Amino acid sequence: MRLALREARTAFEDGEIPVGAVVLDASGQVIGTGHNDRERSADPTGHAEIIAMRAAAASLGGWRLSGCALVVTLEPCTMCAGASVQARLDRVVYGAVDPKAGAVGSLWDVVRDRRLNHRPEVVAEVLADECGALLTEFFAHRRVG
Ligand SMILES: [Zn+2]
Repeated sequence: MRLALREARTAFEDGEIPVGAVVLDASGQVIGTGHNDRERSADPTGHAEIIAMRAAAASLGGWRLSGCALVVTLEPCTMCAGASVQARLDRVVYGAVDPKAGAVGSLWDVVRDRRLNHRPEVVAEVLADECGALLTEFFAHRRVG
């Protein structure tokens, strides 16, 4: 989560909503990193999780991320929760809860929906205060600026 936070800070410095993500393989090695770059890339799917999962899949040479874990500073949205199911991730670890758009337990619970045949394990609210503080600071700055 410390690495994901570092990614989030990079997004912050770029003027992007500060969300960062990493993907770890079964041995705990980082195989993908990403931070939100929706503004810079003009890409509606430019969320930290998607970028980290793409990098991880590229490094493994395949789309299946079985055995891997996604670690992200903010509870994933519906798109990213869906992508983590599609990627067959073993585990989704997140920091701050997103009561407005979260799809891993808040508004929806996409990854634990029993109708889906793959359900990643969820570990919620890891370093949640630190992850949330970065977002609060970002939006406070934006209101002032
Ligand atoms: Zn997302």
